[in-house]
Amino acid sequence: MREISDIDRMRSWRDGLWADCSVGLVPTMGHFHRGHLSLIRRARVENDQLAVSIFVNPIQFDQQEDYRKYPRDHQRDRQLAQREGVNALFTPDEAELYPSGYSSYVEVEGLTDCLCGAARPGHFRGVTTVVSKLFNILRPHRAYFGKKDYQQYRVIQRMTRDLNFDTQVVGCPTVREENGLAMSSRNQHLTPGQREAALALYRALQRGRRMIEQGRRDPAAIERAMRQLIDEQPQVQVDYLQVRDAVDLSHPGEVAGEALLAGAVYVSSTRLIDNVVVKI
Ligand code: AMP
Repeated sequence: MREISDIDRMRSWRDGLWADCSVGLVPTMGHFHRGHLSLIRRARVENDQLAVSIFVNPIQFDQQEDYRKYPRDHQRDRQLAQREGVNALFTPDEAELYPSGYSSYVEVEGLTDCLCGAARPGHFRGVTTVVSKLFNILRPHRAYFGKKDYQQYRVIQRMTRDLNFDTQVVGCPTVREENGLAMSSRNQHLTPGQREAALALYRALQRGRRMIEQGRRDPAAIERAMRQLIDEQPQVQVDYLQVRDAVDLSHPGEVAGEALLAGAVYVSSTRLIDNVVVKI
């Protein structure tokens, strides 16, 4: 495995690959868990060469504190990447991606106005900017994103289409703990009691799913029932909990087609997100 932290060397690695070599990319912020590994494993089998990036992207954080305390464990990540057969580990620092005088950003309109986009101003602008840069540097045939960050996956898909990147965006299922809690680097911040409390989000989404499966179609009633379950858990505060159309993320008058149930909660100061997609 090559570990590369500068852009020119990363480009040279890419340029040196044989003509019809397929390249997969898994962009990450590190501190790998089984969610990351599921993307890496899929990308490994679907491509001749696999690049994984690790970069805690400062411009996608709306809270300095969240950025500062974001968990990092480079040694362990490097070992795991090596073991999974990653060919190139791209680990730029902030000055490499955003040198002084940096002033260009990529923004997807519409899809980013709701859910995490509304709750975290500037977040998706940071995500789409860094992913565009990675796509330009690595020119991957396929890039892998987790549906745990469902809105991010849709936003990247739209950006890729709108800006004509020659990259296929592959969405991968959410990996969960045995009890259902979605794996996240931020789970690291939770005490065992808080992890238990955090399950309220998963349970609320399952309640919403069951309601739809039982024929309920009124988004407001489903949102109320989901929220009720979380309100019973004093350690968990709802940031948002909504029913949306799973394709364009619009707020449906009535649940139809593919519905996205998406939630964000705070457990103490840790923000967690999760979602389920229900096909009718
Ligand atoms: P992150 O390092 O949190 O930015 O995540 C890097 C990639 O891994 C993103 O595409 C995430 O959506 C994906 N990911 C994070 N957690 C999970 C999970 N529990 N299941 C599947 N994919 C995940």
